[in-house]
Amino acid sequence: MSKRTKKVGTSGRYSSRYGVKSRTIVREIEGQQRLRHSCPQCGQKSVQRKSTSIWECSKCGNIFAGGAYLPETPSGVAAEKILKGLPNKTPVEEESL
Ligand SMILES: [Zn+2]
Repeated sequence: MSKRTKKVGTSGRYSSRYGVKSRTIVREIEGQQRLRHSCPQCGQKSVQRKSTSIWECSKCGNIFAGGAYLPETPSGVAAEKILKGLPNKTPVEEESL
């Protein structure tokens, strides 16, 4: 199949509207969003975006919440690290008191 748009890609639907920078950002995000991502449960690359921040694995049927445009975001990873670190830190703090 021949490529319909040479360089504007998915942002071609906006024609010349909204400015080059905004359309470039849309194109970059949509490109990553439509890729098949790896599943946190079965590890297979079959996770697709169902809706805003809802991701579904077509292999094991796992539905989970993630980023709006990516299943895993840098801020989400940071928040998860803090949450996982909490049970380990609490006993240490109690001992020092
Ligand atoms: Zn899966």
